[in-house]
Amino acid sequence: MPLSMTHPPPHSGKTPQTPADIARAALHKLTEEMLPPTPENFTKIYYEISGTLPPPDSASNQRCGNLLEMIREVVVNLSEKTSGLAVDLQSGNQGIKQSLDDLATTEEKARIQQLLHSVIEATSVLYTRVEDTHEDIVASRLAMEHIKEEMRETRQWLQEDTLTGAQNRRGMDMTLAREIARSKRYKTAVSTAMIDIDHFKRVNDVHGHDAGDAALVHLSTVIKSVLREADVLVRYGGEEFLVVLPETDIRGAHYVVDRLKQVIQKSPMIYEGKKIELTFSGGIAQLKSDENGHALIMRADKALYEAKHAGRNCIKVAE
Ligand code: GH3
Ligand code: MG
Ligand code: MG
Repeated sequence: MPLSMTHPPPHSGKTPQTPADIARAALHKLTEEMLPPTPENFTKIYYEISGTLPPPDSASNQRCGNLLEMIREVVVNLSEKTSGLAVDLQSGNQGIKQSLDDLATTEEKARIQQLLHSVIEATSVLYTRVEDTHEDIVASRLAMEHIKEEMRETRQWLQEDTLTGAQNRRGMDMTLAREIARSKRYKTAVSTAMIDIDHFKRVNDVHGHDAGDAALVHLSTVIKSVLREADVLVRYGGEEFLVVLPETDIRGAHYVVDRLKQVIQKSPMIYEGKKIELTFSGGIAQLKSDENGHALIMRADKALYEAKHAGRNCIKVAE
């Protein structure tokens, strides 16, 4: 099963199975959290419960559509230019060959001059034609370079969570596959930490949903400022984050998450003049030699579940 299809973690209770179950649970959760029953809220909660990725939104479709249209334009333009060139080269070549054949059989000076003139003329037309096409090809190459850059940005954008800028599940799948392959190849450690904000529902209840959103952004910013360049922060679910720590064993992971705790404790969020303090619980796991990404995350998640049960605001290590 791909990682993006994983079920919600054990601490989120019973897993609804069918789409109808999930829809019912989503409606229930909307009421419970007193959120207005807008299509946006419903969709968000639906995908939160199902643990799957929402389909690319219309902005993604628009962006990919624009890219495809740009590529199509360059390719059509180039193929028109090059096939036109091939036709012109062939007919020019035939004309020149005919003039050369005639030259070989004629003795008349005026005729020879005329034939030479037409060969020079035809060659010059072909030269200009090739030059023009060369310019078109150079322009197409520049357009392709631009498209390549756009594609790189779009790929990154598709792998990002829009609220926090952390990676989304799609990005996580790629990151884990890459880091696990690297760890197996170079025999280096890789660890993950599953982090879940404690009593986050209260933040929404007391300060409002916008404050909750701002708190998620604040937490992500603080975490990213503590992590190394190679570490990756993923928004795993609503208020749940996964940190992927390459070349880090379990002791290193413990150290990093401890440090995250301290920094977050020292940097409370100020929202509309009010201080909002956040704590989180964490579960950490180091990749085993025979393990895939899914199993690694499940172990980190199980450790997180234990941290919640141990009273929250603490870190537990997976077996
Ligand atoms: P626990 O300590 O057990 O983790 O308690 P909790 O309240 O954090 O956990 P619970 O799963 O009961 O509630 C999670 C809350 O997070 C409820 C949900 O509305 C909120 N949430 C999830 N995603 C978002 C979001 O994008 N923005 C805001 N503002 N709230 C969110
Ligand atoms: Mg929570
Ligand atoms: Mg949670």
